[in-house]
Amino acid sequence: MDMKNKCYICEKGDLEKKKIDYNLYEVDLGKFDAEICSKCGETFFDEDVSKKMTEVAKKKGLWGLQAKTKIGQAGTTLDIRLPKKIIEFMSLEKGKEVEMYPEGKNKLVITTE
Ligand SMILES: [Zn+2]
Repeated sequence: MDMKNKCYICEKGDLEKKKIDYNLYEVDLGKFDAEICSKCGETFFDEDVSKKMTEVAKKKGLWGLQAKTKIGQAGTTLDIRLPKKIIEFMSLEKGKEVEMYPEGKNKLVITTE
């Protein structure tokens, strides 16, 4: 009989070892060893796996895409400067049409489709 670890979050479920597909910004990073809780479904990765994921993310140019920016002003409207990494990742350019909509009061989605 093998000993199973209890979930670190709910402390009730057993952790099952599984290989799962991991996505970052909807880009597939591959399959990774994970432990998944049988009760709450929370997924855990150990330190080595996390390091591996970071490496793959860096290789695919996905690292550091999350960024902070400040809202500026242009006349009567406000503007947001996009960081270079996001511009490259999303292949944005001046004059390209994008659509935007709020998702609630704290999130703005900008889409090129
Ligand atoms: Zn759990």
